[in-house]
Amino acid sequence: MPLSYIVHEVGMLRSNSYLAFDSGEAVIIDAGDDAWKIMESIQEKNLRVRAIYATHCHFDHVMAVQDLRDALGCEFYIHPDDAEILSRMVEMTRGFLGIEVPEPPKPDGYIQEGERISVGRDSLIVIHTPGHSPGSVCYRSGGILFSGDTLFRGSIGRTDAYGGDPAKILDSIVNKLFTLPDEVVVLPGHGPPTEIGWERKNNPFVGERGLIRRGKNG
Ligand SMILES: [Zn+2]
Ligand SMILES: [Zn+2]
Repeated sequence: MPLSYIVHEVGMLRSNSYLAFDSGEAVIIDAGDDAWKIMESIQEKNLRVRAIYATHCHFDHVMAVQDLRDALGCEFYIHPDDAEILSRMVEMTRGFLGIEVPEPPKPDGYIQEGERISVGRDSLIVIHTPGHSPGSVCYRSGGILFSGDTLFRGSIGRTDAYGGDPAKILDSIVNKLFTLPDEVVVLPGHGPPTEIGWERKNNPFVGERGLIRRGKNG
């Protein structure tokens, strides 16, 4: 049995929060807002949540972390290269978007490229994909990939926020994500799912038929 998942669209920027689970054990991938929606699914499915993992530390992916961590008694992990973005979340969000957000949650620990995260009898592998932010990561479990704001259906993550790097996001997508099998389902940080094969061919920013070489979304 592959890893199961439930998605919730949360918050003003409509980011996706994923609950990934197997054998009654779950992890949360991104907790952007609306903790209650996520809690409802956890209770409904009677899941034991081990930890919350961020794909990156922009506010729209971490705002519900504190509430969920308090309610569930679980830990919160990020890639260390996004620690600065997380710790300066209040001033950066104010400066970049003019939005006031609460103090950010402090991580309990850090994840690294290639690390394996167990979820029930299944697991996720960490793929470091810098570009949208320095510490952006994707999480893969067999035929599914949680891609955060690195790869979207028909688009890629923007690179104009602090720490963004257009050359790095192209390198991450082309050399790390597009080497995965065609049929891997991509579950992005915003918007609907897609597949690696479709994006490799058709994505206008990075696909074989692509002409444009810069991002805009997320
Ligand atoms: Zn982002
Ligand atoms: Zn986002």
